[in-house]
Amino acid sequence: MGKLLAVEVIYRGVFQKTLAKNITRGVVLAAHNEGKLGLSFGRYGDAPERNGIPAKSFAIVADDEQTLEAGMAQYEPKQVDVTVVLDDTLSKGTESWAWYGLQPVHHALKPGHTLIVLSLQDAPALLKSIHRRETPYKLGILKGVTNFSGMWVYKDDHTDVRVLGAIAKALPELVGLKAVEQFIAEKLKNELKVTSAVLAFDRFKTVEVKAGEGNPEDLPKFELLKWEDMRQGVSIKGQPQGGPYKNDVTREVGGFRPVRNELFKKYSTRTQRPVVNFKTCTKCTLCWLNCPDASFDVTPEGTYDANLEACCGCGICEDVCPVKDCITMVNESEFHDNKSQWEAFKKNQDAYLKWLEKTIKEAEPEEKRAHGFRYRGQYKEQVTEALEVAHKA
Ligand code: SF4
Ligand code: SF4
Repeated sequence: MGKLLAVEVIYRGVFQKTLAKNITRGVVLAAHNEGKLGLSFGRYGDAPERNGIPAKSFAIVADDEQTLEAGMAQYEPKQVDVTVVLDDTLSKGTESWAWYGLQPVHHALKPGHTLIVLSLQDAPALLKSIHRRETPYKLGILKGVTNFSGMWVYKDDHTDVRVLGAIAKALPELVGLKAVEQFIAEKLKNELKVTSAVLAFDRFKTVEVKAGEGNPEDLPKFELLKWEDMRQGVSIKGQPQGGPYKNDVTREVGGFRPVRNELFKKYSTRTQRPVVNFKTCTKCTLCWLNCPDASFDVTPEGTYDANLEACCGCGICEDVCPVKDCITMVNESEFHDNKSQWEAFKKNQDAYLKWLEKTIKEAEPEEKRAHGFRYRGQYKEQVTEALEVAHKA
């Protein structure tokens, strides 16, 4: 048996689907230039077309047909030689594999191998989100703004070939730079893209991440039901209705909090989250009525608190709120917990409002994300801004 090498690309469902596919396909076609055989394929644990859902695309490459066939017998590679994360807010983990709970992004990465993250953040900032693990690995940051493209358009900002250049540097035994250049020149027929791949190769560096370094959060654990624990027949369990919101800080009881599925949290679907100014909220109910995921808890005083275990970060609440700057969507990388904002507000209003102002301000410019729901023309406006940010990086 020859050698089998695997790359996984973790991306956001729909928006980065084309980009992820182009990268894994590019790995395989470039490796063909070195006489290797390979296959690229997608893998979803949730509805494949859910906006923002973490999803994976794989490339497996082998020296010979028999080794490739053995690798193809697996539904998805259990261990990979390179992991690429296309959106740095996914550094907090992936959760499309709902029955596994939250998985760290380096879950399948072999010890000592390379995790590549597309980001404008530095390693210490990313390691606040990336979970610690028992074995060391290398972290490489490919500088760049998040590229959302896939459903309607392919936003061709060279992210695909830049990632290929970085992979060639991280794991030359999988595919070398010359083979990547040949693939781009012959198949994509774009000399500028060849230059981008070479530049990414030259600039790509990694830092060693030691065992135990990173986000110390303990991941939630879920017990899978065994078949003998399941109820007889085919049935879907109904959910109880929910009840009043209880504030542990102020001891207030009232409002309404729906019962939510304990086994499925949506925080890894988000690239941004709403922050709410409870002081200016007029209790108009529009955010609560329009939230597609019933994420708002009604507080005892009638304001609306986005429950961050349920919020998928779609931005609709910000869009429908009639009060200026009452709800603001902020880049998810600014946050390191999912605690209630209303409880923080009730604990210390002045401190909360200062935090709100600082958080919104500090999130610029990364918080600007074309996430599909904002307003018509936003995508076009952001291309110029995104290019300026990328040039500065
Ligand atoms: S961003 Fe707003 S509307 Fe969308 S799921 Fe979260 S709370 Fe609901
Ligand atoms: S839409 Fe805005 S003003 Fe209306 S309840 Fe929600 S946060 Fe308050």
